[in-house]
Amino acid sequence: MAVLYIFQAATRPQVDNIAYSRFRDLVAQGHVKDITITSSKIDGHYLKGKKTVAFTTTQLPFPDDQLVPDLRKHHVKIVAQADNPLVAVFFQWILPIGLLFGLYFLLFRRMGPGQALQFGRSKARVYNRKEMRTDFSDVAGVDEAVAELREVVDFLKNARKYQRLGGRIPKGVLLVGPPGTGKTLLARAVAGEADVPFFYMSGSEFVEMFVGVGASRVRELFEQAKTHAPCIIFIDELDTIGKSRGGAVTFGGHDEREQTLNQLLAEMDGFDPKVGVIIMAATNRPEVLDQALMRPGRFDRMVVVDRPDLNGRIAILQVHARKVKLATDVDLRAIAAQTPGAAGAELENIVNEAALLAARRGEDSVEQRDLQEAIERVLAGLERRSRVLSPLEKDRVAHHESGHALVGVFVDHADPVHKVSIVPRGAAALGMTISVPMEDRYLLTEPELQDRLAVLLGGRAAEEIIFETVSTGSSDDLQKATDIARRMVEQFGMSPKVGPIAVTQDGSQFLDQKFPWDQQKTTSEELARKADEEVTRLVSEAYDRAKRILTEHEAALRAVADELKRVEVLDGTALRALVDRVELASDTRS
Ligand code: ADP
Ligand code: MG
Ligand code: ZN
Repeated sequence: MAVLYIFQAATRPQVDNIAYSRFRDLVAQGHVKDITITSSKIDGHYLKGKKTVAFTTTQLPFPDDQLVPDLRKHHVKIVAQADNPLVAVFFQWILPIGLLFGLYFLLFRRMGPGQALQFGRSKARVYNRKEMRTDFSDVAGVDEAVAELREVVDFLKNARKYQRLGGRIPKGVLLVGPPGTGKTLLARAVAGEADVPFFYMSGSEFVEMFVGVGASRVRELFEQAKTHAPCIIFIDELDTIGKSRGGAVTFGGHDEREQTLNQLLAEMDGFDPKVGVIIMAATNRPEVLDQALMRPGRFDRMVVVDRPDLNGRIAILQVHARKVKLATDVDLRAIAAQTPGAAGAELENIVNEAALLAARRGEDSVEQRDLQEAIERVLAGLERRSRVLSPLEKDRVAHHESGHALVGVFVDHADPVHKVSIVPRGAAALGMTISVPMEDRYLLTEPELQDRLAVLLGGRAAEEIIFETVSTGSSDDLQKATDIARRMVEQFGMSPKVGPIAVTQDGSQFLDQKFPWDQQKTTSEELARKADEEVTRLVSEAYDRAKRILTEHEAALRAVADELKRVEVLDGTALRALVDRVELASDTRS
């Protein structure tokens, strides 16, 4: 970069580098003759005494609305110039890539061919049975996946038995599921159970800076594995190399990735399944994978690793609780009940966090309250008692949260409110209302969704009733409510006006598609507009409903908010008891 700077300085005639404020003064004094504006700077000429001098100044990062009117007033000649895209491409892409190539050849020459090959050496890590103390007992809550993988273990252990009858051993097994559900863990457990070497490599390690290295790594990985058969090759984060080919061409990474992927496909096709190498891979983005990976003879087995249900979460907590000392009062079921949607990684984190909390408090075992606090830490960000709300904020937050909670109490189908809190958590959430589903839900009915909408909008409705104004505190609620309403209309066919059809409004996905023209617009603009109207209708109806409920029970709303301001946290039982008391009192009065 120093070189470039000198070059520029040497070829430029003398140019005054002036501050933006000085430039504005010069304009105001009428000394500026002409300027050329680009997005990053302003060049031009001004009168310095009798001389015309070139100057340059940097652009403000935000628009200066007064500038153009001022320039017009003083008759300055204005030239606007788009930044030269070729220059940008040169500096951002061609130059750095050129330098990298240069470096590569330099290193290559220095070390001689033998050593340079080191770059291509497979960086796969090999684990054998002794290091690999993972087996299926370390995995819980994903029983179906384990059952399918037991078969793979059996293949590896008894390859001969299966081949005797001419059956084809699967070559590739793809683990698919959200992050943290235990895909990597499962692959290790398979290797541990089968007692075979385990070649681990992460997709992102293939794609490194030197062109051609990814492909040679793949080749070496397979060569190495074949000499250790039976064994497992595990490619984690397959999507980093296995993204669908084609589409937009970019400099650098793209070609490299494509070469690596092609090599992987070639290797998978090339080897004989009888050698007993099974290739496992994991991804949480199966939708972006190149279709070629899924053809027969490649990753033809797909094992879904999903988020655990209630019993699964209990089992996972038990697995991780083995590593810590639990107090006798600990009820893991209660912890599992409060963490629907959490994956194994989060549950492990909760147990770990609880152990740290217990240690900090000087306890000799992990107690229920440690786990309880750990949930809140892991799921909602750190508890920050130090972030104090002003009394006015606290008043508003208390009514907002009471609004959510009360609508939750008075609608028929909402999940019971577990806890209302106005203790600030993390950076964004000022308060929260946690509802616990009675059981894990895979199906939701229309009335249940409508009730959820009303509960989400209860916070804002309460603010409007009590303060007659709303605040910015509802944006997250509105976002969630809109998402639900949109899915009701566009995916679940719950709008009579739109009807029982699926509406696809999104044309922006085509970048990941193989051919942009595959993505045909399936929805007319009219239907899309109607869907938008229906989303709006659902949300505003739910909002009106929340307001009606809260107006009817305003005494309870005020009472709950007052109590919250006093104690900051109310659990579900206390909440319902308080509401009953207030309702009873107002019933007897009228
Ligand atoms: P993934 O690869 O799906 O993103 P990992 O296998 O890396 O998830 O999971 C991270 C950690 O979370 C594991 O090492 C393990 O401690 C814990 N974990 C995840 N899923 C499970 C599970 N089903 N049973 C037990 N522990 C799990
Ligand atoms: Mg993983
Ligand atoms: Zn809210």
